[in-house]
Amino acid sequence: MKTIIEPFKIKSVEPIRFTTKEEREIILKDAGYNPFLIHADDVLIDLLTDSGTSAMSAAQWAGIMQGDESYAGSRSFYRFEAAIRKITGMKFIIPTHQGRAAEKILFSIVGGKGKYFPNNTHFDTTRANIEFSGAEADDFLNEIGKHPEIRADFKGNMDIEKLEKFIQEKGKENIPLCMITITNNSGGGQPVSMQNIRETKEVCTKYGIPLFIDACRFAENAYFIKIREKGYEHKSILEIVQEIFSYADGVTMSAKKDALVNIGGFLAMQDEKLATQCRNLLIVTEGFPTYGGLAGRDLEAVAQGLEEVLDENYLHYRIRSVAYLGDKLVAAGVPIIEPPGGHAIYLDAKRFLPEIPPYQFPGQAIVCALYIEGGIRSVEIGSVMFGKNDENGNMISPPMELVRLAIPRRVYTQSHIDYVSEVVIDAYKQRDKMRGLKFTYEAPMLRHFTAKFEPV
Ligand SMILES: *Cc1c(COP(=O)(O)O)cnc(C)c1O
Repeated sequence: MKTIIEPFKIKSVEPIRFTTKEEREIILKDAGYNPFLIHADDVLIDLLTDSGTSAMSAAQWAGIMQGDESYAGSRSFYRFEAAIRKITGMKFIIPTHQGRAAEKILFSIVGGKGKYFPNNTHFDTTRANIEFSGAEADDFLNEIGKHPEIRADFKGNMDIEKLEKFIQEKGKENIPLCMITITNNSGGGQPVSMQNIRETKEVCTKYGIPLFIDACRFAENAYFIKIREKGYEHKSILEIVQEIFSYADGVTMSAKKDALVNIGGFLAMQDEKLATQCRNLLIVTEGFPTYGGLAGRDLEAVAQGLEEVLDENYLHYRIRSVAYLGDKLVAAGVPIIEPPGGHAIYLDAKRFLPEIPPYQFPGQAIVCALYIEGGIRSVEIGSVMFGKNDENGNMISPPMELVRLAIPRRVYTQSHIDYVSEVVIDAYKQRDKMRGLKFTYEAPMLRHFTAKFEPV
């Protein structure tokens, strides 16, 4: 097989700034050993997130110039609406400035005390918006998705049996809607199979519950279906995507992922009464229903991005380049979650640094080492992010200690990824030198963003 090349050539470039190891040691120390607090100019390869970090195409930039900034009835809105309708088949399409704005509007209306919202795994903003409304967010990830050491094709699947039991237990009248998140963000974008989406819909239909899809990475999920699920190998990505959404009654999406833009999102649904309520709230919090907190130019870029993301050559390159990094690390013995998902590689910090206990943050130690060794920014997903203290001040750790390397879309080339693998493998070889950390500052909530540390 020949090398899978980037399906684009580069017209516009952005320099990245090289620093020396000595400089990075000082920068990291000054930032309290928390790369969230580093100036982005001091980062060489930024793998903090795949959200809003995509490179736009020449056609998207052309769309930016063509954006119609009319307050009402903008031509760009109609292009945006048509692009989303073609993919999702939804009747009512509401622009929002991000995914969480769509969630906030939806759950302000359907949420509230005594309500339950099942999902394969709620993304943190979805969970936060549900809980903020007073309702409960419940995860029903299939058992296999909880085992990082097991390789399986669809580790994002919903546990259908548990979902049905839950509906019977809580009562269908207390479940305004069920969600399914594609791909499942946790675990680095593990896909959900078409069969699982269909079966989730069947259970929902049986109890008269609408199914909403959190569609942030719908195209990446569709590509996994094409290459892994029987019966889909000869279907086009558009056909697969249209089948996925044929099972949905509504959609929320952050366009910062698979719409290949830097800002944007939407809420879409089939139900007219719900759409009217959502639009009324949108006017209060986001803007008039034909722009919803976005500029006309943003709507153009989303519409164009949604077309480009369906290109199979793009998806082939996208999924393959994430797997390529995973393969290189596995070949060198670096422990990662397998198989790689669609948008990120997760290093397993417990196996990487077995000598450093969770209360000394092994994931954060790796994050620091990758920055110092290679100027790479990653993020800890473990005890720093999710650890909680009991009454005696002892830390309760989450089950896994991970480091996420999220890959921005169309931003880095194969040589950048080769460099990343070299830095990670080098760091792994020198893991004996890594030291744990302890807090010098810790905020009461969402502490990972602002925490400061020192080495122990
Ligand atoms: C990013 C994301 C969201 C929230 O979108 P924002 O644009 O960041 O507000 C919701 N769900 C999933 C699965 C996501 O990845």
